Amino acid sequence: MSTTYDLTCDCGAVHLRLSGAPRVRGHCHCSACRTLLDTPYHSVTAWNADQVAVTKGSEQLQVFQHPSLTMKKVFCRNCGTVIYNTNKMDWRVVSQHLITKSLGDLPEELASLSHFHYGGRVVDVADDLPKKD
Ligand SMILES: [Zn+2]
Ligand SMILES: [Zn+2]
Repeated sequence: MSTTYDLTCDCGAVHLRLSGAPRVRGHCHCSACRTLLDTPYHSVTAWNADQVAVTKGSEQLQVFQHPSLTMKKVFCRNCGTVIYNTNKMDWRVVSQHLITKSLGDLPEELASLSHFHYGGRVVDVADDLPKKD
């Protein structure tokens, strides 16, 4: 029985269950994340598709395929919360902030291990995590 994490969007219509351990967890400073999500960097957990299940409210989900990126944004059509986005590998990329909002804090086993694409950053981050380009 693997660990599960139950998340919800801001309005509560959509429920998401994550199972097991993420493939990747870190702060991504790439321009694609910035363009897709309008954020200076994206604090992510990335999962295989079969580790991520919509357990309620799938009819509320809206999928936006970005016109120039090989990325999709999947969000609640009622409240606008991004449930996850996909990347070129079709992983399910779930924001650490959505996890924190849903669970009250971020479990240590989901917290970032490093910064990546740090060479393309638009903000500096002063912490002790490894910084990779
Ligand atoms: Zn919602
Ligand atoms: Zn990125």
